[in-house]
Amino acid sequence: MDDGSRRDTYDVVIVGARCAGASAALLLARQGRRVLLIDRMRFPSDTMSTLYVHPPGVALLARWGILDAVVASGCPPLTTVGYDVAGLRLTAATPPTPYSDAAYAPRRRVLDELLVRAAVEAGAEFHDRTSLREVVRRDDRVVGVRVQSAEGLRTIPAKLVIGADGQGSRLASLVDAPFRTADQPVSCVYYSAWQGIETGFGYHERPGSWIVRIPTHDGITLVTTYFPQEQFDRIRRDPLAEHLASVERNAPDLHEQLRDAERVDGLTGTGNQQNFFRRADGPGWALLGDAGHHLDSITARGITNALTQSQLLSDALAGQDLDDTAGVDTCLAGFTKETYDLLREPYRMALDLAKLRITDSRVALLRAIARTPELTAGYFALLAGLIDRSEFFTPEVADLLPSSATTFGGDRERSAAAGSAR
Ligand SMILES: Cc1cc2nc3c(=O)[nH]c(=O)nc-3n(C[C@H](O)[C@H](O)[C@H](O)COP(=O)(O)OP(=O)(O)OC[C@H]3O[C@@H](n4cnc5c(N)ncnc54)[C@H](O)[C@@H]3O)c2cc1C
Repeated sequence: MDDGSRRDTYDVVIVGARCAGASAALLLARQGRRVLLIDRMRFPSDTMSTLYVHPPGVALLARWGILDAVVASGCPPLTTVGYDVAGLRLTAATPPTPYSDAAYAPRRRVLDELLVRAAVEAGAEFHDRTSLREVVRRDDRVVGVRVQSAEGLRTIPAKLVIGADGQGSRLASLVDAPFRTADQPVSCVYYSAWQGIETGFGYHERPGSWIVRIPTHDGITLVTTYFPQEQFDRIRRDPLAEHLASVERNAPDLHEQLRDAERVDGLTGTGNQQNFFRRADGPGWALLGDAGHHLDSITARGITNALTQSQLLSDALAGQDLDDTAGVDTCLAGFTKETYDLLREPYRMALDLAKLRITDSRVALLRAIARTPELTAGYFALLAGLIDRSEFFTPEVADLLPSSATTFGGDRERSAAAGSAR
């Protein structure tokens, strides 16, 4: 590239401006980088999601100065969590962090827009209705993008290109990012939105079914039903009837409330519940959010994971000279490893839950944790991603559990606890 094009070179071009891309743009702009954020959609807009942000994600929003605006938007704080399973009704306070004692489920047109606005305030440029078409390479390195907008096709040089463009990432295909872990889809999901019910946040689990109720803006509660993936072809033929029948069968109290409530918006659903980690870095490029790692939506971790990855990526790049390509590649490799190490266990947990089996050993575990509020709270902290299995399954906890207890159909927890004590 000549000197003129070097002057036009962005430090970072980020493709995709939702929770992954906009939060990364915000953090990298705050590092003083010259950032261009693009999205092919017109913003603000909604996207398929049941919106729940777990406490670790809420803590990041608070650290970044976004949480006050989420609260000011009228998004209700979710201060309790309920879990109705195997004849047990567990309830606990939302696991607190030093930043908040609530979770939130903001509409995506609100959350994503707040992140974009904060990124722009921090100095990032934002162009919506702008699509990534091609990458520009010098030797093997990505050194820019070709994008399409109403003004036509143009080339934008960049020192780093980040794909935050969702599970079907165009950047991932263009750079041929390989899958490092991939599992078959195991669930499918439909959700509806209701006005006139007061349910709080919670789960209802039965064999072959997982139902979630999630209050969001404007007095609306989302009701989500999960089914086994192999039933998708049947369910999609009459999804509303199947959705309501599942609520009636598996969460009768909730169904009772729906009788007097008004359904707003249409029914939304998908069978495209992919499970994978892609290789998330290469020469001059990185993948963030669903583009690099997608998991079944049953544990509602995608937004929290995306925010977490943005923080990891910006930490990895902090102070790094982006002209030092070898240094950048080392930072990106470190980011990929940290992401995998941190998100591998929640991925397995989601995959196990999404199989929609309630094994005897898991029932044994749930009965044991129902015995004390501390254990119940600890279990919800584990589900929220605030602690990991080794922190929950201490040897003291293991002593309270029957020898057959397992969390999500996986390893035996007594032996896991024994391992953590060594
Ligand atoms: C049914 C369902 C329910 C869910 N519920 C929850 C939940 O309750 N909580 C939770 O945390 N997660 C949930 N998720 C997951 C969550 O929605 C995703 O993990 C999250 O949206 C990922 O964010 P992202 O920014 O990585 O990608 P996305 O939200 O997919 O955004 C990608 C963006 O990239 C843009 N883009 C794509 N290609 C291009 C291109 N070529 N050029 C320019 N722009 C492009 C798109 O327009 C889009 O705006 C759910 C998912 C589903 C399917």
